[in-house]
Amino acid sequence: HFKTGAAIPVLYDLFRVDDPATGRPVNFATITRDLTERKRLEAEREGTQMTLAAVVERCPFGIYIVDDEFRITDMNEGSRKGAFANVRPVIGRPFDEAMRVLWPEPVAADVINVFRHTLATGEPYYSRDFVKPRADIGQTEGYEWELHRVTMPSSRRGVVCYYYDSTRLREAEEKLRESEAHFRSMTDNSPVMSWVTDATGSCLYLSKRWYEFTGRPGGSDEGFGWLGAVHPDDAASSRGVFLDANGRQAPFAIDYRLRRHDGEYRWAVDAALPRSVGGVFQGFVGCVFDVHDRKLLEEELRHAADELSKADRRKDEFLATLAHELRNPLAPIRNGLQAIRMAGVGGAVEKARSMMDRQLTQLVRLVDDLLDISRVTSGKLQLRRGRVELGAVIDAAVEASRPVVEQAGHELAVAVPGGPVWLDGDHARLAQVVSNLLNNSAKYTPRGGHVSLTVGRDGETAVVSVKDDGIGIPPAMLEAVFQMFTQVDRTLEKTTGGLGIGLSLVKGLVEMHGGTVEARSGGEGLGSEFVVRLPVAPAPAPSDGSDNSGGEAATPGPRRILVVDDNADAADSLAELLELLGNEVRTAYDGEAGVRAAGEFRPAVILCDLGMPKVNGYEAARRVRAEPWGKGMVLVALTGWGQDGDRRKTSEAGFDHHLVKPVEFAALTKLLAGLPAATA
Ligand code: ADP
Repeated sequence: HFKTGAAIPVLYDLFRVDDPATGRPVNFATITRDLTERKRLEAEREGTQMTLAAVVERCPFGIYIVDDEFRITDMNEGSRKGAFANVRPVIGRPFDEAMRVLWPEPVAADVINVFRHTLATGEPYYSRDFVKPRADIGQTEGYEWELHRVTMPSSRRGVVCYYYDSTRLREAEEKLRESEAHFRSMTDNSPVMSWVTDATGSCLYLSKRWYEFTGRPGGSDEGFGWLGAVHPDDAASSRGVFLDANGRQAPFAIDYRLRRHDGEYRWAVDAALPRSVGGVFQGFVGCVFDVHDRKLLEEELRHAADELSKADRRKDEFLATLAHELRNPLAPIRNGLQAIRMAGVGGAVEKARSMMDRQLTQLVRLVDDLLDISRVTSGKLQLRRGRVELGAVIDAAVEASRPVVEQAGHELAVAVPGGPVWLDGDHARLAQVVSNLLNNSAKYTPRGGHVSLTVGRDGETAVVSVKDDGIGIPPAMLEAVFQMFTQVDRTLEKTTGGLGIGLSLVKGLVEMHGGTVEARSGGEGLGSEFVVRLPVAPAPAPSDGSDNSGGEAATPGPRRILVVDDNADAADSLAELLELLGNEVRTAYDGEAGVRAAGEFRPAVILCDLGMPKVNGYEAARRVRAEPWGKGMVLVALTGWGQDGDRRKTSEAGFDHHLVKPVEFAALTKLLAGLPAATA
C-alpha cells in the first residue's frame, strides 16, 4: 500500500498495448485492484462453511447423502460410527448394496424404494416407527428418520437422510408402558378401589373396581366427578375433609356412604397418603374399601355390648336390692332368737336356738357380703377412714374368725410385730378383709389343719399374710379367684356354702385402701397363701383419740324406749328384747303414729326405722325435734343402708345415732349403755 507501506492483497492485471497502426506492442498497462475486502469475505465464508461442516460432522444424529446415481456420497461421523459402522467401504458405495448389508429383505427393498421415490418426486418422507432386526449385528434396532431431496454441486440431485437411533428411547418407553400396564392390572385386579389425584385435588385416575362397584360409566368420575357417587348427605363434608387434607398435604381417611351399582348406599372408608416427587407434593394416592358389613357388625356388637352392660348394671342393682330386702326379715329373727335366749328356756329349745343363731350369723354374713360387693362394684361403698392400728385390726379379725377356725378344728398361729403399724383406713373394713381370708383358710382346709396369720413390714408397706395347709389352688385359678362369683370347682367346696364373692370383696376393699392382694399356692393339695399389702401411714398425733377397739358391752340400765318400724315383726321382736333387758317399751308402725306415741309416752330413746309409709323416719325425727319435749330425746336411726351419705342425712334430720339392720344385740346394748342415765 503506497500510503501505509503495508502489504495488501491485490489483483494485478497486465495488458500489452499495441500500436494500432503497426500492430506492434508498444507498451504495458496495468490495472491493480485492492482485494483486501474480497479476501476477508472469502475467508469468512470459508470459516462458516467449515464450522457448519464440523457441526454436521459432529451432529448426534446420522446424516448421509445419496446422489442421483444412487451412491452414498457423504456421511457424518454419526452415520459412519453408527448405523453404517459395519459397512466398509461406504463412501461411493451403491446405496442398494449398503442397505442389503444392513437390512434383510424385504426391509432393504422397502427402504430403497422410499429413497427412489423422494429422489424422483421431491416429496419428503418421514418414518417414526421403524423397528427392524439388523442383519449384520443380529439385533433389533429402531430408528426415526426422514428424507429430503437436495440439490448438489453441479446441479445434480440427491437425497439426504437424517436419522437417529431410537432403540434406547424405545426401550425406556416400553419399560414405562410395561410398568404402567403392571400398575393398571394390579389396581384393576385388586379388590379395593384405588385412585390418584394431582396437586390441585383433581382426580387423575380411578381404578376399574371403582367403576365396577359404582356402575358409573368408566372415566366419568375423574376430576371431582367421584363425589357424584357419594351419598348426598356425605358429599359436602367428604369434599371438605379432602380439600382440607389436600391443603395440608396430610394423610386422611373419610367414612362415607358410596352408591353401589344396584343403588344401595354402602359404608366405605376412603384413606389416602400424599405422594411427592423430589419432595414436591404431587397429590394423593388413595384406596376405598367397602366396610359396610363390618360397620353394621360393629354397630351390632356395640349394641350388644350396651345391652350386656345394661343387663350387668340391672344385675348389680338387683343384687343390691336383694341384699337390702333380705336384711329386713333377718332383724326380727335375730331379735326373736335373742329373746328366746334371754327367756332362759333350756334343753332342746336352746339347742335349736343356738343352731338357728349360728345359721343366722352365716346368713347375715352372706347378705352383708352381697350388699358390700354390689356397693364396691357400683363405687357406692365409702370408707370411714381414720388412723387405724394394724394390730387392732388383726385382733378384731381374729376375734371374728376364731369361732369358724376353731369349729373346723384348725390350729391358728398369729404373729404380729412388736411396735404399732399405722394405716390410713377403715378399721371395720380392714378387719373384714383379714377375717374373710381367715374364714376361707378355715373353709378350704380339711379338718385339723394349720392356719397362720403373719404381719410384717416391708419398707413403707404393711404385709399381711394368711396361710393354710389346705386344698390349695391350681395355678391357672390364682388370678381368677378374685373375680366375682368365681369358685374353683371341687367337690369339697360344695359343702362350704359360699357365693364366690368373698375374695372379690377383699380385693375391692384392699384396692380402695391403695393396696394389693395376691394369691399363692403350690397347686392342688399344697395349701394357699393370701398376701395383702397396704401402705403404711405416719403415727397419729397423741391428741388424736382414735379409738377403734371393740369395747365391752355393758348392761344398760332401764329406760323408756319407743320402737318405730313399719315391719311389725321387727318392731315387736325388738321391743320384746328390750323389755327382757328391763326397759319399758312401746311400739308404733309408721312415722305418724311414732311421733304421736313419742308425745304421749315421752321415751328417753326412740329407735326409728327410716323407710316407712305416711311419714318416713327422717320426717318423724324432724317433727319430734321440733317439739319442746323432743329436744332431749335420744334418736337412733335403724336402717338397712349403712352408708356415710345415709349417716349424714340421718344426723341432719336430728338423729343422734345410726344402727344398721339387722341390729347386732351387742351393738344395741353398747349404745344404750353409753347413753346418759335414765331420768324418771
Ligand atoms: P367363696 O369362698 O364364697 O366360694 P371366695 O371369693 O371367698 O368365695 O373364694 C373364691 C374361691 O377361691 C373359692 O370358691 C375357692 O375355690 C377359692 N379359695 C379361696 N380361698 C381359698 C383357700 N384359702 N384355699 C383354697 N381355695 C381357696
